[in-house]
Amino acid sequence: MVGTPDFAQMLRRCGGRATPGRLRLMRALWKETAPVTAARLQKSLGGALNLATLYRALDALAEDGVVRRVDFRHGHAHYELAAPARAHHHHLACTGCGAVEDVACTLRPRLKRTSAFSTITDHAMEYFGLCKACGARGPERGGRIWTGAGE
Ligand SMILES: [Zn+2]
Ligand SMILES: [Zn+2]
Ligand SMILES: [Zn+2]
Repeated sequence: MVGTPDFAQMLRRCGGRATPGRLRLMRALWKETAPVTAARLQKSLGGALNLATLYRALDALAEDGVVRRVDFRHGHAHYELAAPARAHHHHLACTGCGAVEDVACTLRPRLKRTSAFSTITDHAMEYFGLCKACGARGPERGGRIWTGAGE
């Protein structure tokens, strides 16, 4: 297992404040294997922070660029660590059960070659589909957006 990244240094490098609270949030995100909701983070932090405070802190970290906000069309945001803590990637999201899989980025290298832009600073992209288990249950699950509470 790779050692925990130096989050304090990452925050300072992007001009953000490295407060104990923000470092604690980043360490909690580091333990997750997929983008998480603020509600789930609240639980993993022992419920000490209220949800509104947590959202504000996460959105501020996203603005600093150390955290990435991910939209799975669940009606709530998901969060994960951004590069350099986590390598840049995208997600496959199952509309049947909410399962999420990381996928490599193929877009940026191609755009760099084919577009007239000199730099591409950021992009976000999620793929939607059905996981194998949901696909096996039949196509009727495919049209529906998964709305599992809080996840
Ligand atoms: Zn599924
Ligand atoms: Zn990408
Ligand atoms: Zn969700």
